[in-house]
Amino acid sequence: MNVVRSAVELPRTEGSVGLVPTMGAFHEGHLALFGAAREENDVVVVSLFVNPAQFAAGEDLGRYPRDEDRDIELAEQEGVDILFVPDTEEIYPSGFQTWVDVEELGSILEGEHRPGHFRGVATVCLKLFNLVQPDRAYFGQKDAQQAAVIRRMVGDLAVPVEVRVCPTVRDEDGLALSSRNAYLSPEEREAARALPRALEAHDRSLLNGLPVDYFEEADFEPRVLAAAVRVGKTRLIDNVVLEGEAQ
Ligand code: AMP
Repeated sequence: MNVVRSAVELPRTEGSVGLVPTMGAFHEGHLALFGAAREENDVVVVSLFVNPAQFAAGEDLGRYPRDEDRDIELAEQEGVDILFVPDTEEIYPSGFQTWVDVEELGSILEGEHRPGHFRGVATVCLKLFNLVQPDRAYFGQKDAQQAAVIRRMVGDLAVPVEVRVCPTVRDEDGLALSSRNAYLSPEEREAARALPRALEAHDRSLLNGLPVDYFEEADFEPRVLAAAVRVGKTRLIDNVVLEGEAQ
């Protein structure tokens, strides 16, 4: 596996390229995306960039979990060909002022509670697509609204990338894997199990009093019941598919 820190070092390849955009701190959810990309493409590129533009002031950018050495090891084990680790200057060169705003889809649910979040997400993904030029890009159903926003952007702007969405990977107790689960104390982790239970039962009262940002159906493809709750200082999101399967 090559660790590439600058886009000019990205090799131009003959075969198909699958890109998995990530913010690192890999878990089995990420690894499932790497596996899907591995199955469907000649070359697998994983990007690792903790994107400042998708964090609002006061969010967890500064303490977001980072472990590049471990990530390199895991990506290598999963058969990733290129780990692309750009620096901030590469993604946002000085004077940067061009943003992608998926207006409606980006302003409901997560977008309402994290203003500017999806503008950061859409912009970094388009930038990564332009740098890596993948045939396919892989996202997790765990972040259903993110997948919907990226699909909309790709359709609206005729971006020549096929968006693939893979099912949510969960721990044995049902909690969706997330890099942010590392913030939870053992007691909080126990309390967090209420989130998948409530979603699965379609019953908000099973959240056991956890503070709720939203617990709502959303007309993404596929339709989901999505929720965001706070467990102590940690904000967790999850969803269950209401009809059909993640494509
Ligand atoms: P992140 O590094 O958290 O930005 O996530 C990178 C990609 O992995 C995104 O497309 C996420 O939706 C996806 N992902 C994160 N957690 C999971 C999970 N538990 N199951 C499936 N995909 C996931």
